[in-house]
Amino acid sequence: MRRNLTCIECPTGCTITATLEDRTIVDLEGFGCRKGYDYATSEINHPERILTTTVPARGLSVKMIPVRTSGPIPKDSLRHAMCEIRQLIVCHPVEVGDVLLADLLGLGVDLVATRRVV
Ligand code: SF4
Repeated sequence: MRRNLTCIECPTGCTITATLEDRTIVDLEGFGCRKGYDYATSEINHPERILTTTVPARGLSVKMIPVRTSGPIPKDSLRHAMCEIRQLIVCHPVEVGDVLLADLLGLGVDLVATRRVV
């Protein structure tokens, strides 16, 4: 099986082609540098994403507060993470970087505010 990826590590956007056998990489072509090689192997072996979303606010100047995870989380945990985040309502002022949920799903990353809201 062959899988094409576009490297997002720099604006060049190299197209990297991975040849897989039983989900194992047996060949990588098209990367322009080591960063692309690392990106492709990570994306195939354990894809991760920074989760960005909003959470509702009550009694504050806005109705929704933008948030993000403090680091990447496994792509297959995104749905579970959203289920946990959906239970959150913020009722107090927040500063940028304030932790709204610590150690989300026990993954070692926090959910933090990305906007000051009073
Ligand atoms: S492989 Fe290297 S040169 Fe190509 S897009 Fe990725 S970082 Fe840029």
